[in-house]
Amino acid sequence: MTVRLEQSKSGPRELFSTSQIEKAFGPGYVEPGSEGCHRAWGFRYLGGLREPEISYAEALAMPATTESERRYRGGALARTWGKHAETYIEAYIRGEALNPGDDTVRRLIPGFGLLPNPRSLLEYRFQVPVNVKTGPAGDTVSWQGFKDFTGVVALEYRPLRFLIDFKTTTPKVDNGKNRELGRPIGSWAFMKQPADLLRDWQFNLYEYQEIQQYGAPSAARWVYWASPEKDPRYPNRPEARASDVPNPDPESIARVVETLDQHARTLRSYIRQFRDKRLTVMQLPANTHACNAFGGCPYRRDLGGQCDGSGATVTIGKVETGAVSNFTFDPKSVLLTP
Ligand code: SF4
Repeated sequence: MTVRLEQSKSGPRELFSTSQIEKAFGPGYVEPGSEGCHRAWGFRYLGGLREPEISYAEALAMPATTESERRYRGGALARTWGKHAETYIEAYIRGEALNPGDDTVRRLIPGFGLLPNPRSLLEYRFQVPVNVKTGPAGDTVSWQGFKDFTGVVALEYRPLRFLIDFKTTTPKVDNGKNRELGRPIGSWAFMKQPADLLRDWQFNLYEYQEIQQYGAPSAARWVYWASPEKDPRYPNRPEARASDVPNPDPESIARVVETLDQHARTLRSYIRQFRDKRLTVMQLPANTHACNAFGGCPYRRDLGGQCDGSGATVTIGKVETGAVSNFTFDPKSVLLTP
């Protein structure tokens, strides 16, 4: 079984996302090999080879194994399931009428109770751009991304600023690729617990921006939706769960963001050497533990890629990149920033 890769037309940009950092350095605590592979990052971000996201339409075209899959219909066919679901979540928050008979709505309903009561929202925004810079003035690293849902909710005793991320984890319709690669369907295995979030790249970068924007971290909730299908009595039953970090610690956020900044500088060094033709993707360090992680690396030769894991194998963390980080960060000074 081979993985169809797409070639991006644009070259590498010195603009980073937490998913880039995960690709190269990984979260590391999910499963063996999840510590990432610099070479896999290189194939994706230097070589521009990416796995196509499975759109809603493609998912529909896949052989359906259940009646529920066959019944998936609706708009947004070109988008992924995650984007499709988000439009319904946003409609719920805006108070728009939703049809509980709609299969998407049925899947999302268990999580609506984990969102702030729409009538208690004092302000809110969806898809807030993350355009953070890290590092010293004159040599900053630029970041991009989107915070799903931020705002202020009126609690009984005080208003509370919140940061919420939507995780539509492995719903059945988006699992064609998972099936192909032998990954578990509808599993909760990848849900991050609060302790995981404290070291999660995305969580900490988003909170870093909250500190810059509002002077303090926001109460965080990551809401996960899935249909685990573990219980044969309730096949395809949707569920939702939440991981909360009600009082994030600015010092802890600073430490993780400092590591993020350093990792991005390593990747930036690769980008500059690649542009100057001093580096090829195959010269990047390979982490052979990652070749089989998450169902198999798409750049593996036997899956249709070019890599057999040989060559410049270097233990992650011992890579000599020449990248120098002068990153200093004083959370107290940031807290004074309006
Ligand atoms: S096949 Fe293995 S070594 Fe090669 S890019 Fe993928 S994870 Fe890295």
